Amino acid sequence: MMVRSIFFVAVLSSLGLAQALAEAPVQTNPQGPDLGIGLCSDSRTPVNLDETVRSAVIRAITPAANGKTVALRIGPCEGNIPDSTCYAGDKFLMCRISAVERILRAAAWGALKYQESGATSYDAFRTNVPRWNVSAFKYADGVAPEANIDMALGSMREAYRRYQTTDSSHAASSVTRTELMFTATVDFALAALVGHEITHASGEKCPLADKARAEESGLISRLISLQQSGELFCARPPSPEEVRADVCGMRHLRRANKVFVQRNADARTMQVAQRLGADIISFETTFGWRVRPDIPAGKYPFMELEQYLYAPMRVMAFSAELGPDGSGKPAVCGEAASLFVHGTQELFQRCKDGGGNVSDDILALLPKGVETSWNGAPWTPASYSCE
Ligand SMILES: [Zn+2]
Repeated sequence: MMVRSIFFVAVLSSLGLAQALAEAPVQTNPQGPDLGIGLCSDSRTPVNLDETVRSAVIRAITPAANGKTVALRIGPCEGNIPDSTCYAGDKFLMCRISAVERILRAAAWGALKYQESGATSYDAFRTNVPRWNVSAFKYADGVAPEANIDMALGSMREAYRRYQTTDSSHAASSVTRTELMFTATVDFALAALVGHEITHASGEKCPLADKARAEESGLISRLISLQQSGELFCARPPSPEEVRADVCGMRHLRRANKVFVQRNADARTMQVAQRLGADIISFETTFGWRVRPDIPAGKYPFMELEQYLYAPMRVMAFSAELGPDGSGKPAVCGEAASLFVHGTQELFQRCKDGGGNVSDDILALLPKGVETSWNGAPWTPASYSCE
């Protein structure tokens, strides 16, 4: 697809985040950047790109853009992108600004409500605020306005930019715990989205060489064979390109996490952010990464994408990537586990030919309560316990 109606193009240095965030010279016609990143507006009128959206996207592409020339383009979506959240071509990737805004708003809702609830762990939070991610997306989508979140959003966004631009030795002390939770949650969600899409823009190859946990553990191979065999859902071989793109999203997630560790981010806050991030990614993987124009506002029906791994499998793999490592706690729990179950039941209903057998190795990644409830006990928040 040709890209037209571009308002301006900024060429970014890609040597590192600090350089990339410095004011970029604006050019009208760059000669052959290595990678073109487009951000498009749902409206036809020219937009000034919001600084936090810009910062978040640059942050997400930085690992893949290392050593490359990157051009950032801003324009309308209409005429430039099909009816999708992102569109990738050869060395080019365009995503809707509204999809990034949605992540910022949902993540802010989660971090601020966590603070307000007085919870001291993710598990306490999700019990105090049931199905927190659904409420967060209702706020993000304008269905459930909350003036106090609107008021706090500005300073959260400012803190996000400050964290990204602060020298790493000072980063840990430059933001509050709530702001760190917000910053990390946003980075995780965008790592999954951009990491997937950038593979399509890079000749179907992941620009990051370091493997994801899901590759090392064999989880991805297992999910592919599960999908091909039909022992769980109807057999449906996924497209290798889409699986590779998801794995690249997982590599980006692992990398994003590492960056916070290198910056000495508070470990307890990061544990919460990892769960919040998994819940946001799981929600968007199950229901879509943007407001779907054909669906009534505030309704979130299950979405099937034919060429991908089945949604519950993607939920599992992305969430496990952010799960605790060797702690004895479930890799996937809370709202992510709830969405795994929701998607699984949805798919059982849609296709009766699937084997419907959730094997022990898959159950081992989930809270014990999931198996108990599947065997007849009532479904309660305790079914998804993270402890
Ligand atoms: Zn894709």
